[in-house]
Amino acid sequence: MSDYVDNVAASLDRQILFNMPLRKAVALFSILLFVIIALSSSVAYYFAMQKILNENLAQELKQTLNSKQLLLRAELEKETLLLKVISERPIIRDYFLESENEVAKANGLAEFELHRGYFQNKMISWISTHDSVYYVNGQAKEKYVVSNQEHAWFFENLTNKNPPLIKVAYDYLNRQIYDLYVDYPAYSEGKVIGVVAGRISLFEFISRLDLPDNVLIFGKNGVIIGASNAEIAKKEKTLQELFDVKGEYVHKKAIDMVGNSVETFRLDGSQFVLASEDNLGLFLVAKDQFEAKKILEETASIIFFALLLLLLVVIIIFNKFISKILRPMNKNMTSYIESSLLDELTKLPNKRFYNMRIEDEWNRAIRGKYPLSFMMLDLDKFKIYNDTHGHLEGDQLLREVARVFSYCVNRNSDFAARFGGEEFCVILPNTSIEGARKIAENIRISMERTGKATISIGLACKTPSLEDNMQDFINFADQKLYEAKNTGRNKVCL
Ligand code: GH3
Ligand code: MG
Ligand code: MG
Repeated sequence: MSDYVDNVAASLDRQILFNMPLRKAVALFSILLFVIIALSSSVAYYFAMQKILNENLAQELKQTLNSKQLLLRAELEKETLLLKVISERPIIRDYFLESENEVAKANGLAEFELHRGYFQNKMISWISTHDSVYYVNGQAKEKYVVSNQEHAWFFENLTNKNPPLIKVAYDYLNRQIYDLYVDYPAYSEGKVIGVVAGRISLFEFISRLDLPDNVLIFGKNGVIIGASNAEIAKKEKTLQELFDVKGEYVHKKAIDMVGNSVETFRLDGSQFVLASEDNLGLFLVAKDQFEAKKILEETASIIFFALLLLLLVVIIIFNKFISKILRPMNKNMTSYIESSLLDELTKLPNKRFYNMRIEDEWNRAIRGKYPLSFMMLDLDKFKIYNDTHGHLEGDQLLREVARVFSYCVNRNSDFAARFGGEEFCVILPNTSIEGARKIAENIRISMERTGKATISIGLACKTPSLEDNMQDFINFADQKLYEAKNTGRNKVCL
């Protein structure tokens, strides 16, 4: 019968907190709280760190790109300076002014030859405005004329106010590579008297920049001509071939750039920095991918996880503390349940508990459309027993009744209670009149066998519907009990 106590405790707990003892509820709530805090703060931390690291990444890329851009300009300056030095040599200027003078010409060509030795690139050419003859590496080639489109670069130099004139061109016929042309005019009394031009292989020129893996240089057509991996540049891969749609986007963006400018943007999780080198018609692009695992390498992450761990420890300590406080409370609760719902003497459920239960069972029988059986029981001539054996013996007999119930009433859903005095009741859900009668007879015979007292039982059975009245049903059992009393006692009436 102590099952009843557990049942009552469970039903009370259910009303308190989802069928859980308070301690368990606090523990679960703590775990939930921790998970929510850990998850939400981790997500917030991740996005904040991602933003910071991305900004750092962009900054780093910008610096890398900037340093390479400066190096590019310095290299170009070096080339230009050499040409300028040649163009300013007096012997060269004399030659430009008097190219038909054999002595001046011989001296001039010798001077060119001398400088060509210093000039680290393979090709140097020049033209005097005096005779307009184009020389390449000391060899006279052709006379330049305005009408020839291929000679236009020379005449451009004559009107150019801002030397040098720099061009990137593709040498289709000879070497199938890009060339960088730097032209510098020679002056006499403010007038251009000749042009000195250097031709450098663009690949060779860019290789001096020692580009890192994440930086590329490409032309207006999107063809890559500078990369740390020489193969990429040599095979003339395009941005699109290398980066697919992203490459196409970068190319479009580059073409739209005006003058020398720098742009930073993110594309599909990749960070890009793009710079245009306007006078060369070239673009530098640096690209890097943000990697989530980089967040873990940050010191802030160690602090973050340490704080989460600390929170977990605090929650565990808090739970231990709460558990200590709640343990006696739980005990009090159990004893409170026992004292308020169980009969002190027999430990059977009392009238109050019965009141809670009978209505539940009645409604459940209506819903389930099954028969509900109900017994009213009363010890026979208990007053005389008391008077003969004393009240203590009488109490003992009442406990005996509880013991009889404990082996006659066995289903989990069955319910036996002490109404008060020597009156009891038994609720048998989903039990037919025949089944109930058997149980009642068992109880009656068991009491008789004790040899101490007999018991009279009134029995009612009904499959209730919404129109039926519960009280009438109980009264019926009560009437049957009276009938048993009035017709000789120690019997079951139904
Ligand atoms: P009947 O066969 O008609 O039921 O006769 P009865 O004597 O059993 O009925 P009655 O109602 O006249 O007597 C009930 C008696 O039960 C009165 C009281 O002495 C006794 N009683 C009630 N509560 C307790 C209790 O807790 N302990 C003891 N020992 N006796 C009790
Ligand atoms: Mg009685
Ligand atoms: Mg009585």
